[in-house]
Amino acid sequence: MASVCGDCGKVHGEISRYFMWRIPQLGMDAAAKLVAEGDYMCRVGNTRYFISCELALAFTDGDEKPLGFIGWVEVSAAAYAAYQHYRAAEETLPPMEAWMDGRLANPIPGVDDSLGTAVRFEVVCGDPTPYITWVQPGTALAARVQEGATVAFWHKAAGLA
Ligand SMILES: [Zn+2]
Repeated sequence: MASVCGDCGKVHGEISRYFMWRIPQLGMDAAAKLVAEGDYMCRVGNTRYFISCELALAFTDGDEKPLGFIGWVEVSAAAYAAYQHYRAAEETLPPMEAWMDGRLANPIPGVDDSLGTAVRFEVVCGDPTPYITWVQPGTALAARVQEGATVAFWHKAAGLA
């Protein structure tokens, strides 16, 4: 329902707090070769490998719930195989304690140059979407994570500002 926004004074509907990408950002040739392995893993032939992950950005003040960015992280073939092995029997295997390494395969809206940023993510048993727990220092995304979400950033990410 549209209403006058208390932050910017414009009239707009409820702003989504979840931002999702269906597939990694790829060129046409690579996208044509994309193979889905369930809802949370995909690969380009046997050359590039992707895992669906979430970056949560908490608001530093106010009582808004965190913003969630769900997109793809490109990982090595070895990491992909290890992850697939774990997910096939996660209830019976010891937890994956080490964070996994990868690079963002979708940009975070509202954050400059975030595509390709190095990240690490934590795999949680029973939760299909790992959480990004580390972002390469010195990047625009690291600065955003440090600052946290703000209403102004939320507007920017949603394309309202
Ligand atoms: Zn607004």
